[in-house]
Amino acid sequence: MTKPALTLYLAAPRGFCAGVDRAIKIVEMAIEKWGAPVYVRHEIVHNKFVVDSLRDKGAIFVEELEDCPDDRPVIFSAHGVPKSVPAAATLRQMVYVDATCPLVSKVHIEAQRHAASGLQMIMIGHKGHPETVGTMGQLPDGEVLLVETVDDVATVEVRNPEQLAFVTQTTLSVDDTKDIVAALHTRFPAIIGPHKEDICYATTNRQLAVKAVAPKSDALLVVGAPNSSNSRRLVEVGAKAGCKYSQLVQRAENIDWRALDGIRSIAITAGASAPELLVNEVIDAFRSRYDVTVEVVETAIEDIEFKVPRVLRQPA
Ligand code: SF4
Repeated sequence: MTKPALTLYLAAPRGFCAGVDRAIKIVEMAIEKWGAPVYVRHEIVHNKFVVDSLRDKGAIFVEELEDCPDDRPVIFSAHGVPKSVPAAATLRQMVYVDATCPLVSKVHIEAQRHAASGLQMIMIGHKGHPETVGTMGQLPDGEVLLVETVDDVATVEVRNPEQLAFVTQTTLSVDDTKDIVAALHTRFPAIIGPHKEDICYATTNRQLAVKAVAPKSDALLVVGAPNSSNSRRLVEVGAKAGCKYSQLVQRAENIDWRALDGIRSIAITAGASAPELLVNEVIDAFRSRYDVTVEVVETAIEDIEFKVPRVLRQPA
């Protein structure tokens, strides 16, 4: 039987960012240096496939530092941790490696710098996301106010409207965040913030690439995990850019083929924590059902790399 024709627009950049790449390397190098098991506090990056592969190599994933023994190394995930976590590890004389993405650490430093100069901090982010918990945890409890929406800006209660600064989570929707930042500037004209938001290059580039492919596609598939903030934002960006159907899939087996019935074109991208191998798996699944023509739509070239911490570059 002849397969129906399908144009597959492959968004670029997509998938792994420099922070995720570094975090995975840190776990692999730690296992090489200290042997298994190496403990990892929280999923090193939000992707089940990555976590399972590292588990097979000797990583043990736990949610809290209390779940780690004193005598094994522990790694903190790419999302960052509250200050209390490395402090507790130091107190227990544990060996730890911080895999916080340097772009998240930069936000931590910003928040601390503003607070040190007497400003009250507002964070734009998603409640409960580990990055938000980590950034807010750079200052004592209650010192950072969280806003998630434009509506929150109208009700947030501050100590002094003249003494305010804000930071943002790195994986937010660029467009939604612009609206929240504008609302903050309107209500608190003296507020200080980063020149742009703290949304990272990888989040920005992946959202721009989706905006380029989504309007010309009948559907968009984002390869990524349900707990990956940047992947979920890509689904929303696709829908807002005019794609009638956007779906988040972890693996090819999760594709809802019935929902894709009758499509002539599909856009595919991947969140910053999704390996290219899973994108290829999804493309192969389409090839098995359609006569696929792949068109790569590249909106930016990325060449950013982050070094792993020095302790892992030194011999054991
Ligand atoms: Fe770092 Fe951005 Fe990747 Fe998060 S998405 S790990 S902030 S580069």
